[in-house]
Amino acid sequence: MNVFAEKFADLKILRYDVPGFETLDLNKKLYIYYLSQAALSGRDILWDQNNRYNLSIRAVLETIRQTFSGDRTSESFKLFEVYLKRIWFSNGIHHHYSTEKLPVGFSETYFSELVAQSNWSKFILPSGKSFDVFISEIKEVIFNPDKEEKRVNLDSEKDLLQSSCNNYYQDVSQAEAETFYAELKANAGTEPVSFGLNSTLVKENGQLTEKVWKLDSKYGKAIQQIIFWLNKAIDYAENELQKKYIGSLVQYYTTGDLKLFDSYSIDWVKELEGEVDFVNGFIEVYGDPMGIKGSWESIVNYKDTEATKRATILSENAQWFEDHSPVDPEFKKTEVKGVSAKVINVAILAGDCYPATPIGINLPNAEWIREQYGSKSVTIENITQAYFLDSMNNGMLEEFASSSEEIERARKYGYLAGNLHTDLHECLGHGSGKVKEGVNTENLKNYYSTIEETRADLFALYYIIDEQMIHLGLVPSEEAAKAEFDAYLRNGLITQLTRIEPGKDIEESHMRNRQLIANWVYEAGKADNVFEFVVSGGKTSVKINDYQALRGLFGRLLKEIQRIKSEGDLEAARNLVENYGVKVNRQLHEEVLARFKKLDLAPYAGFINPVYELKTWPCGTPDNVLIQYDEDYTSQMLRYSKDYGFLPMAND
Ligand code: ZN
Repeated sequence: MNVFAEKFADLKILRYDVPGFETLDLNKKLYIYYLSQAALSGRDILWDQNNRYNLSIRAVLETIRQTFSGDRTSESFKLFEVYLKRIWFSNGIHHHYSTEKLPVGFSETYFSELVAQSNWSKFILPSGKSFDVFISEIKEVIFNPDKEEKRVNLDSEKDLLQSSCNNYYQDVSQAEAETFYAELKANAGTEPVSFGLNSTLVKENGQLTEKVWKLDSKYGKAIQQIIFWLNKAIDYAENELQKKYIGSLVQYYTTGDLKLFDSYSIDWVKELEGEVDFVNGFIEVYGDPMGIKGSWESIVNYKDTEATKRATILSENAQWFEDHSPVDPEFKKTEVKGVSAKVINVAILAGDCYPATPIGINLPNAEWIREQYGSKSVTIENITQAYFLDSMNNGMLEEFASSSEEIERARKYGYLAGNLHTDLHECLGHGSGKVKEGVNTENLKNYYSTIEETRADLFALYYIIDEQMIHLGLVPSEEAAKAEFDAYLRNGLITQLTRIEPGKDIEESHMRNRQLIANWVYEAGKADNVFEFVVSGGKTSVKINDYQALRGLFGRLLKEIQRIKSEGDLEAARNLVENYGVKVNRQLHEEVLARFKKLDLAPYAGFINPVYELKTWPCGTPDNVLIQYDEDYTSQMLRYSKDYGFLPMAND
C-alpha cells in the first residue's frame, strides 16, 4: 500500500494499513464495523464545538464544490478547493494546530462569483433567514480577520474565554466560569464527576446555566445515531463487561449524567480480556483554554499481539520503574496500580482524532479513577508505522542531523526507539507519581497539560537509556537509546520550529513541553558541554557529547516537575513553561524555516480512513465485512458530510 496520498498547503494526507483485518473472525469484524459506524456518526458534534459557524460554512463550501458551473480549472477555483480541504482537515475554519483562522487564498469578489454560479435549489437554510443575509454572514466570518479570530487562546494576559471563539461557552467570562466550576467542585467529595465535560456553559437572564449534550439537546440528532450503532455493536461484544459498559455509555448519552460516564470509565478500565476496544465520547479538553469541556472523538481498535508483548514487559515491571525513579520518595506511588498497556492497530479514526491523530492514548482522564482503578494506555502501531515509512524518504533527517553517524543510528534504531519512548510515556510516565492531598489538575491552570506531558516525556527519556531496558530485552543496545536522545533534542530545539509561523511563539502543549525539556537541559549542561549547537555551512544542528550526563539532567528535571505537579506549584510551573517552553529563538527559527522550505514538505499529517462495507447474505444476515483503501481524501470528506451530516446548521 502506498502510504502517501496527497499534499496541499501545510498538510500531507497519508493512509494507514489495517493489518490482519481480513483474518479476524466474523464476530470481531462485525463488532468493529458497528463501532466504526458509531464513530463516524459524531463528526458534526466536533465541528459545532470548534466554532458555531463551522457547519454552515461547510455546507456552503461543499455546495459550491459540488455544483459550481463556472470554470472549474481556473487557478482561483483550485485555491478555493485548497481552502475547503484545509477546513475539512481542521474540522472547521481554524487551523487544527495553531487554532488561528485559516487564511483564504481567494478574494471576496471571487467568492461572490462562486455563490452566484452554484446551484442552491437543494440547500436548506436555517429557519427564519433569507439566503442573502445568511451568505453575507458567512462571508463576514470567512473574510473579516477580526471575526472569530482564534479557537483556543492560551495567552494568560487576556480573558481566556472572551478571546477564544470555540463554542463551549456563550457570553461567559473566564472569572465567571472559574467561580461556577469552583463552587461545583467545592462540595463534590473525593470522587467528583468531571464537571462541565459534556455541556455548553451559557448565560441566560444573567444566570449561568449548563446546556448538557445528550439525546434531547442540540447534538441530539448525532447522539441518536451514535446510540443506534452502539446498540447494534452490543450484540457482537466479546464479553459481558464490554456489553455492560456499552450499556452505560448509551445511558450516559441518553441522560447526560456524568456519574454514568464515570461508571462506564471504570468498567472500561477493568475490561482487559477483549481484543477489540474503542473510545467514543467527550474526552480530551485541549480545545477549551480552561481545560474543562471535552471535544467529541472516537477511535476503534484491536490488539497487535506481537507488539503488545513489548508494552506488557514494561507494565509488569512498573513498580521497579516507580521505585528507581529520581523523584522525591514522598511523591512516589508505594503501589503502582493497573498500568495496563498494549499496542493496537486502529480500524477507524473519528471526531477529534481525524484526520490528524494521536499516536498513543491514555485514558480515562479523571484523576481519582486513575488512582483507584488505573488507566488504559495504548500505542497505535499502524499509525506510527505509517509516519515512519513516510519519514524515511523525505530528506528531513539528512538536512537536520549533525552527523552521518546520527543518520545511521536513526535509520537503524529510530522506529524502535520512538515506539519505546511512546510506550514508556504512555504506560509508565502518566501513571507514575502521586499528588499531595487536596491538589488537583486545576492548581496548575492553563500550564497543567504542558507540565503533565513534560513529566511523561522525562520519565521516558530518563529510562530509555537505563540498563534495565537492555536487561528486559527491550533495547538491543545503548545505541537505540542514543537514537532517541538525538531525535528528541533535534525535534525539541530545531525541527518542531518548522511548525511555527515566523514571529510567533509556541502555544501547543506538547511542543511547549519538548522545547521546555530541551532548553532546560541545554542551560543546565552548558558548563559541562553536555551537548552543543554546531553550525556548519550556515546549518545549525545539535550534537550530543555526553549521553549519560544528559540522562542525569533529564532525571533532575523530572524530580522538579513531579514536585510541581504533586504540590500544585503554579508559580514554578509558570516560570518553567514561560522561560523555556514558549519563546522562540528568532534567528534559529528563520534559518530552520528557510532550510525546511527548500525540502518542500508539509509539517502536519493526517489520515484517510479505510472504507468498510457490510456484506449480507441471505436475507440481510451479516456475512462479511470488506475493507478497502482506495478512497481519496476529497471523496471521503464529501461522503462523510452526506452520510453522517446529522446536525442542523446553527441559527444565530
Ligand atoms: Zn501524554
